[in-house]
Amino acid sequence: MVVTRQAYVGIDVGGTKVLAGIVDHFGRVQRTSRRTTPGRRVESRHVEDALTEALAEVTEGLPVAGVGLAAAGFVDATGERVMFAPHLPWLDEPVRARLEDRWGVPVVLENDATAAAHAEATYGAGRHANDVIMVTMGTGIGGGIILERRIHRGRNGMAGEFGHMQVVPDGIPCECGGHGCWEQYSSGNALVRYARSRIGSQPTVLEELCSGRPADLTGPMVNAAAEDGDLVAQEAFRQVGEWLGVGLANLVAAFDPECLVVGGGVSAAGDRLLVPARTALTHSLVAAGQRTVPAILPAQLGPEAGLVGASDLVRRRVAASTISPRRWLRKTPVAKGLRARAKASGGTANRAADRRESR
Ligand SMILES: [Zn+2]
Repeated sequence: MVVTRQAYVGIDVGGTKVLAGIVDHFGRVQRTSRRTTPGRRVESRHVEDALTEALAEVTEGLPVAGVGLAAAGFVDATGERVMFAPHLPWLDEPVRARLEDRWGVPVVLENDATAAAHAEATYGAGRHANDVIMVTMGTGIGGGIILERRIHRGRNGMAGEFGHMQVVPDGIPCECGGHGCWEQYSSGNALVRYARSRIGSQPTVLEELCSGRPADLTGPMVNAAAEDGDLVAQEAFRQVGEWLGVGLANLVAAFDPECLVVGGGVSAAGDRLLVPARTALTHSLVAAGQRTVPAILPAQLGPEAGLVGASDLVRRRVAASTISPRRWLRKTPVAKGLRARAKASGGTANRAADRRESR
């Protein structure tokens, strides 16, 4: 077995920060570097400069075997282009090939939520399952689909945009243009919206935490208040958790997976979110008595899941393209010479060469 001392790197390209990490073949992050994302209203090359700086810093002169990019945007089904990214300047651009040319190493491009799902299904909460649906709860809801241990991207590369499944006809308007999307009821934004709506009508420490300005209320404030036993904050989590379970029931109806993994910033609330979600899932699920209800598991890899998944994807790409020892035996001049000599003498070496050939 060949031991390589080359680094496989994952880079998570988010709306606010770029996080690069060297990842070993157990999915462990060895070290990281970060940069601020230059924003949307700059030229693409400024974002690519930031990625290049983060890559150079994290590898510190180590030879690089490959780089996986987990991008917060729509990536086409072939993994070549970023079609659109709400917080990045990339618009239908061949990001993968351009960075591969610039860096001179293999580059793989994947949507960040899909990369995180791949990481959780490979090294994290879903590693014992074949079919894993991951839901990422941040300000909105993202997701990834792993079926038979393979990423399902869909025709346009847009599969897994669970946040925009409609759960309430004519419900709350969504930035996508629709109404009643799941993420309007179960997400960081939904949590804060509910908590804000109660300030002033019910006694709550949230009022103090936001200094009497509901507009300044944040998710971490609601989490801190819930931890301190504030009833309004706890009710906010219960509501968001129940809606989480309702949406997950739809995903189970569609995919019948072995497990559901919930990650993202809001999932740090743990059981405060997941207990009401499990109850709602069981109540909302079709034929719940006649089936094994999948477990709702907290994600295990944290905010580094995207870069871990992307680095694993490029590691696999490189491994698949490397000539295997068996093929080497068939193809190389030395092996051909051995076979020719064995053929001429007609002895046991010939049969040995044949055996090699037939593998
Ligand atoms: Zn929507």
